[in-house]
Amino acid sequence: MDQILAHPRHATRGAPVRRAAIANLGCKVNQSEMDAVERLLRERGVELVDAHEAADLVVVNTCTVTSIADRKSRQAVRRARRTNPDAQVFVTGCSVVIDPESLAGADPLTRLFDNDSKGRLMAELAGLLELADGRPMPTLSGVELPGGRNGGRAGGRAGGRAAEPSLGRAFELEADEGSVEDAFGDRTDIDRTRAFVKIQDGCSFHCTYCIIPRARGPARSIAADAVLAEVRRAMAASHREMVLTGINAGTYDGGPAGEGAAAGLSLAGLVRRILAETEVERIRLSSIEPQHVTAELLDVWTGSGGRCLPHFHIPLESGDDTILRRMGRRYDAAFYGELVARVRRAIPGVAVHADVIAGFPGEDDAAWARTMAFLRVLDLAGVHVFRYSARPGTPAARMVGQVDGRTKKRRAAEALTLAAEARPRFAERHLGRELRVLFERPLPDGRWLGHAESHVLVAAAPRDGRPLENAIGLVRAESVDPTAADRLAGSLISISRAQEPLAEPALK
Ligand code: SF4
Repeated sequence: MDQILAHPRHATRGAPVRRAAIANLGCKVNQSEMDAVERLLRERGVELVDAHEAADLVVVNTCTVTSIADRKSRQAVRRARRTNPDAQVFVTGCSVVIDPESLAGADPLTRLFDNDSKGRLMAELAGLLELADGRPMPTLSGVELPGGRNGGRAGGRAGGRAAEPSLGRAFELEADEGSVEDAFGDRTDIDRTRAFVKIQDGCSFHCTYCIIPRARGPARSIAADAVLAEVRRAMAASHREMVLTGINAGTYDGGPAGEGAAAGLSLAGLVRRILAETEVERIRLSSIEPQHVTAELLDVWTGSGGRCLPHFHIPLESGDDTILRRMGRRYDAAFYGELVARVRRAIPGVAVHADVIAGFPGEDDAAWARTMAFLRVLDLAGVHVFRYSARPGTPAARMVGQVDGRTKKRRAAEALTLAAEARPRFAERHLGRELRVLFERPLPDGRWLGHAESHVLVAAAPRDGRPLENAIGLVRAESVDPTAADRLAGSLISISRAQEPLAEPALK
């Protein structure tokens, strides 16, 4: 599908764009893509404002992973028009693929671009900004589809900010943790220091509950050279931690045939190249399927001299083998348990986070009890809880044994209680240790907050009163922070500052 709606009567067609807003919903891949838009606008002198402020242009990047995400996407479009009756409103992302009519209904004047047309979106934006200076335009999706449908060649993006304190999975399933973010919510600076580098898009796995393969298409990797170039660009912009992001990042295969591709290069091989060919200080993975945590990948992690961070987000989804089979997952609980043990043996102190889905069709009380018992035994650093949400067109939506809403809610609440206990328990294990913390944002009491290598949040005060943003500090973890049980408070032993400050935030 190409650009599917372009209303000829747009009020300000041709008017100069001086102020723009970006409303971004959903996953880390969406975030990485919108960072390219942000960069293009900023480079062309456009003032970036929050989505509730007056703007000449609004770009809405939608999410369809749940019905809630779809609804929020439509709300974002309606709100963009309400706030800016005369603005150009460009809408893209997964909801445009799955349900364009509803978005067009939300605002008939909007212009819709599906995921394959994101390259065209960038071209349209560039045209709108009247680019005639020959400067290269940032690419958006970074993956060329067969037949060159998306118009972009390579690159993905980095440099950005995420609205969630947790990296989480590449996409989110539902709202029990506020996981499908509100497009008009507070886009905090918590991830401003980290660069989200897209290495892969799409998924060919077809888990029975998941609509993402339909919205994003089959798995395809970004050429290794392009990923390297993106890492270097992010480093030049003073980012010190790269988060490698994809919808199914473990399927990374070196990229499509052609210039810059490295056929057959695995994710481990890609990370090895990044380590060898750049001086990037910290590499983190956003999430990885259990079967992709290979011995080769663990070898790269253990041989990285601490540059690959001891933190893996490995979706579990269920601890019951029958449910895992019905979900179309490609492992059983025993495999997952052995994997976690193997990762812990290889990387002592590693943080393992998991996702769990409550109320999948066919999940009876006994199956749920097995999941909860399994989670207790695993004793993970973090658990992200999602209530099952039936997506039209997926096999699970047609399955017998749909679980009623109250039961789903009750099970999700149980898992959330377990998750709330897991985080501080893991954090406390760091007490007395020296942690390397990348500081991200100030707290109201004058201290700064950042993530340790294991993703635990740590607060510390600067010794000289200077801001700590983007500094990596060696911090002695001394106590549980009085303001949050899953945070630590510590004192700064030494500090390494970035050579240059980060670019000005794009959104105010
Ligand atoms: S691995 Fe499964 S859950 Fe993840 S994107 Fe692919 S189909 Fe969806």
